[in-house]
Amino acid sequence: MTGGLVAAECTACGRVTFPRALWCPACGAQQLRRRTLGTAIVEETTTVRRAGERADWAAVRIGAVRADGGPVVIARLEDGVEAGERVHLEGGEGAPVARSNLPPQEPR
Ligand SMILES: [Zn+2]
Repeated sequence: MTGGLVAAECTACGRVTFPRALWCPACGAQQLRRRTLGTAIVEETTTVRRAGERADWAAVRIGAVRADGGPVVIARLEDGVEAGERVHLEGGEGAPVARSNLPPQEPR
């Protein structure tokens, strides 16, 4: 597993936000620290089949993913990830990706 996803945590009330905000949406405090989001659960999924006028668009699955102790993140889903599944969020400072949190299957 790598990096996780960088969010912000309010030092006053503990609210976690993603994307990172300049101040806390819950209490208005401006002291925020980096907080890395890791494990999460997929709440809903959908497939984006069109992107405006782009003819070269390939369908992409995305989901609403609730990070442990934190916010709901819209993330691209790794192949095979379904609603209700535990996942690991990645992306560092970039766009979120949700990968399966299950150990790799042994070949049969
Ligand atoms: Zn706060």
